[in-house]
Amino acid sequence: MSEGRPERLFPLFAAITTLQGIGPKSAEALEKASISRLRDLLFTLPSSAVDRSLRASISGVEAPRVVTVEVLIGEHHRPRSPGRPYRVIVQDAEASFQLVFFHAREPWLRGHLPSGETRVVSGKVEVFDGIAQMVHPDHILTRREAEALPKVEPVYPLSQGVTQRMMFRASADVLERMPGFEEWIEPALSEARAWPSFDEALCTLHRPSTLADLAPNAPARQRIAYDEILSHQLTLALARAQERRKPGRPTLGTGTLRQSAIAALPYALTTAQVCAVAEITDDMATSHRMNRLLQGDVGSGKTLVAWLAILAAVEAGGQAALMAPTEILARQHLESLAPMAATLDLSLTLLTGRDKGAERAAKRDAVARGKVPIVVGTHALFQDELRFADLRLAIVDEQHRFGVRQRMELGAKGEAVDVLVMTATPIPRSLTLAQYGDMDLSVLDEKPPGRKPIETVTVPSGRLDQVVDRLRKAVAEGRQAYWVCPLVHESEQVALTAAEERVKVLRARLGDGVVGLVHGQMPPAEKDAAMARFISGETGLLVATTVIEVGVNVPNASIMVIEGAEHFGLAQLHQLRGRVGRSSTASICLLLYDGPLGETARARLEIMRETEDGFRIAEEDLRLRGAGDVIGTAQSGLPRFRVADIERHADLMAVARRDAQLALERDPSLQSERGKALRELLWLMERDRAIKLLRVG
Ligand code: ADP
Ligand code: MG
Repeated sequence: MSEGRPERLFPLFAAITTLQGIGPKSAEALEKASISRLRDLLFTLPSSAVDRSLRASISGVEAPRVVTVEVLIGEHHRPRSPGRPYRVIVQDAEASFQLVFFHAREPWLRGHLPSGETRVVSGKVEVFDGIAQMVHPDHILTRREAEALPKVEPVYPLSQGVTQRMMFRASADVLERMPGFEEWIEPALSEARAWPSFDEALCTLHRPSTLADLAPNAPARQRIAYDEILSHQLTLALARAQERRKPGRPTLGTGTLRQSAIAALPYALTTAQVCAVAEITDDMATSHRMNRLLQGDVGSGKTLVAWLAILAAVEAGGQAALMAPTEILARQHLESLAPMAATLDLSLTLLTGRDKGAERAAKRDAVARGKVPIVVGTHALFQDELRFADLRLAIVDEQHRFGVRQRMELGAKGEAVDVLVMTATPIPRSLTLAQYGDMDLSVLDEKPPGRKPIETVTVPSGRLDQVVDRLRKAVAEGRQAYWVCPLVHESEQVALTAAEERVKVLRARLGDGVVGLVHGQMPPAEKDAAMARFISGETGLLVATTVIEVGVNVPNASIMVIEGAEHFGLAQLHQLRGRVGRSSTASICLLLYDGPLGETARARLEIMRETEDGFRIAEEDLRLRGAGDVIGTAQSGLPRFRVADIERHADLMAVARRDAQLALERDPSLQSERGKALRELLWLMERDRAIKLLRVG
């Protein structure tokens, strides 16, 4: 794609001011709605439509409703007093009713509604004081003019300064200027789905002939949504292909370390773990670069999968790095890996922002000279000048805490580094494909056997005393519990004050030494100490702000209390609950709430009681909140679709991913007939990144 934008597309990229009747002022208003070129207008579709098909009479319609009828015009009645409306009596085939006008000018009305003649009127019919009337008809037309009235009138989403009339005329003009395209969709697919061509689809959407034409699953709308999704997936597939073309190194371990590691485990791998490990190590063994996402619900055993991948890198004589989003998590990874490393006589080191001075220099030196094969650390580790002797595998834990960009930076740390990203946030498949479509996927969809289900109950805050009482007994019996303080949006400080207050109350009831506290603003050393006391069992209850949300693993903890549960999102509640249920002891999760609950909050808590399945929870979350919010639009990497809706068109995402992949396998640089059509699609959808990738490829 050495050339620029294909000439065929020029007309669609012209400024909207080239349209008839769009002057600078209208253009300015449209621009506020992100419409500046003709193509933008093309993809700004009517959100609904009004049925204007001609009826014989208003009788029998259920008012209020828009009706179009031909009427014989009767008498005009001037307002009896100022402020009263002007009325015109009209008669259709069966009924008589009134046209009502406020502040009307009589000459205009007499001119447009001459008594004794017929006109077609269209507008909302209402019943007022038992009399049917139409206030300010939308249309007053002669029979000839009425023939040109679309039976179904599109209703565009408007912003200030933009009118329906403007949108209607502008879209008519744009549709006329459509250049005509070669089909870029696989014929088998459009046939199977009965999709119209691109041009036809847009004509149908801008000029629907029935209301059903505008439904999200109507063929025309699906077709255009698919075009958007396909262009996005094609971009991701190009990026993925590009990553894979980068020189990689085959990392082919001997298998000896992995065999010993597995033999030393007190349990067997789950089938899902076996599959994921095979996918990862097979990928590492090829000569292209791995760029893979490992997705698994809390407690699905991702750490072990990561460990076996690390061993494959070490077997091959290389180094591996594991990066965590927080200090606590990095430490915890170190602690869970250390015993396994010890049985294999492997050394590993922890590098965090807290390392200082000589110790830090020594650690770095050991890594640079290849003396330490395995490095665990926080993000800080990868930001600066740390060198590896032979980094072969980089694992990023809990991706959602990082931006998409860091993932890219990481790969640059070594020569041809294989990258594995782990996420414990189950997200619906459609979103995974949209967000991580440039990565290969491994999914742990099964949990280790023997886990007891977590009993989840909702408790009104009025019963807090009883909860504390039960907690006191449980802790006295040697059980351990988390107490998560309410999420406070106003400020960290308020959240902290609330947590400190709660600690006071709980210490008074349970005893001073029994209750620990961790929060985000604590000096790191204090935080570690508090965590360590909880892990060792010295403290039985750990009060926390949401810092414990991600990944913390204290298997003996079997009670989770979440205060102000109604303020948390589903994903967060699920993550928090996942901190318990990590041993064979039955666990319980108490969701304390302040009633009365709003509808969404009630639905969230209900879902939490119903299921522990993170993927199901994620689907429900998507349903309740919509896509942008589920993953945070800002760093989601999600494109802003104009027509496609990730939730409603979820199935199209998977189809498009496969389609894009196949198209590129057959024709990597898009040179065939279909390839050329796909290029036009990329241009049309402004997939600049894809276009650049095609240029360098
Ligand atoms: P995740 O990181 O996916 O939330 P972890 O890796 O922390 O999960 O594993 C959760 C717990 O399950 C750990 O205590 C781990 O030792 C244990 N575990 C992992 N794999 C298995 C398995 N195949 N069988 C039994 N227990 C397992
Ligand atoms: Mg984990």
